[in-house]
Amino acid sequence: MHIAIVGGGINGFCCAVRILEHFQANKTPIKVTVISEEFSPNTTGDGSAGLWGPYLLGGTPTNKVHKWSKGMHDFLQELWLSEDAGEAGVCLIPVVRLSTNDVKVEDFWKDIVYGCAPLAEAELREWSTTRAKKFTDGLHFVTYTSEPLKLLPYLMKRFQKNGGKIVQQRVEDLNEIINNDQYDIVINCTGLGSRELLKDANMHAVRGQVSRVKANWLYFVVLDESDDGNYIIPNTESVVLGGTHQKDDYNKVVCPNDKKFIIDGCREIVPGLTNAQHLFDWVGLRPGRTSLRLDVDKNVKKIIIHNYGHGGSGVTLAWGCAADVLDLLINEMKNRNLVKSKL
Ligand SMILES: Cc1cc2nc3c(=O)[nH]c(=O)nc-3n(C[C@H](O)[C@H](O)[C@H](O)COP(=O)(O)OP(=O)(O)OC[C@H]3O[C@@H](n4cnc5c(N)ncnc54)[C@H](O)[C@@H]3O)c2cc1C
Repeated sequence: MHIAIVGGGINGFCCAVRILEHFQANKTPIKVTVISEEFSPNTTGDGSAGLWGPYLLGGTPTNKVHKWSKGMHDFLQELWLSEDAGEAGVCLIPVVRLSTNDVKVEDFWKDIVYGCAPLAEAELREWSTTRAKKFTDGLHFVTYTSEPLKLLPYLMKRFQKNGGKIVQQRVEDLNEIINNDQYDIVINCTGLGSRELLKDANMHAVRGQVSRVKANWLYFVVLDESDDGNYIIPNTESVVLGGTHQKDDYNKVVCPNDKKFIIDGCREIVPGLTNAQHLFDWVGLRPGRTSLRLDVDKNVKKIIIHNYGHGGSGVTLAWGCAADVLDLLINEMKNRNLVKSKL
């Protein structure tokens, strides 16, 4: 059985690792190949801070987001408690999420993170003093960052160590892979690429620009959730300052106005950032969708599973979505009598 995973971003590699390790543990002969135009450090996730937290997911049902994001949180906990934590870039970090205009900070995931509690009035007042904004609601908790610049190479290494194969190739038409006799099963994790590959009109870019600075003294995350809000997310060697979320904007060039908004806004929240060394700016296009797509394509004879449209939370959901992809795959293989051994 040969499985082709198209797309080598965080979702492609979480699926690749989960599927390969599952079948190997069950002693089922399996080959897995990841085919992708780009790999780390050139995927959408590579510029992100990889903070755990559901964000920009369109109408994706909350119960599914909860399940998928818990799956990733559990995986990050497992990594953080393992000897691989440093290599995989997994950090445990305190977070403050703030909002204005009496908008409540979303908290349907509060049982997943550690010690989630509302900010007291006095704390909200303190956060409001550093800038001209009045924060009206807030939460504090502890969760993980898993910066894809480290997590992706870690997953790729783990996949290849177990015999997984990698092919660099742009796929112009998914049928190229579906009709290729080499592959029995195809899993599509092409993110925004699915817009063209499948002519999926429900897909759209949500442009995000960030700046990275050196500020190793900063050890907490601050997110201003209001529409014109900024965020500050430390990673292991740099701090990500954000950010923009421009729907249907496909411009991948750094915009000076966005940069000013980011730098000035973050300095207002944490004045110490004024003297932080600026490293670089980065733009990525989040794979936005009316609702995340994770399903079996019933129009094709071969098993085809789609897993794309993770918006602003591809890192947060990846391991949990990969579990559902694996479940769908096992069911389809059983239904079609593709393997005799116990799965
Ligand atoms: C500024 C910014 C900050 C973010 N911060 C966070 C965060 O803190 N936490 C979080 O959870 N998420 C964050 N995100 C969102 C996250 O980065 C994305 O949701 C995630 O990267 C999507 O992963 P993916 O694997 O589905 O798609 P991608 O990472 O886009 O990967 C798609 C892969 O498919 C390949 N591909 C596409 N089309 C083709 C084709 N035709 N042929 C062959 N290969 C193809 C690409 O080369 C790529 O390898 C952020 C995004 C941005 C832009």
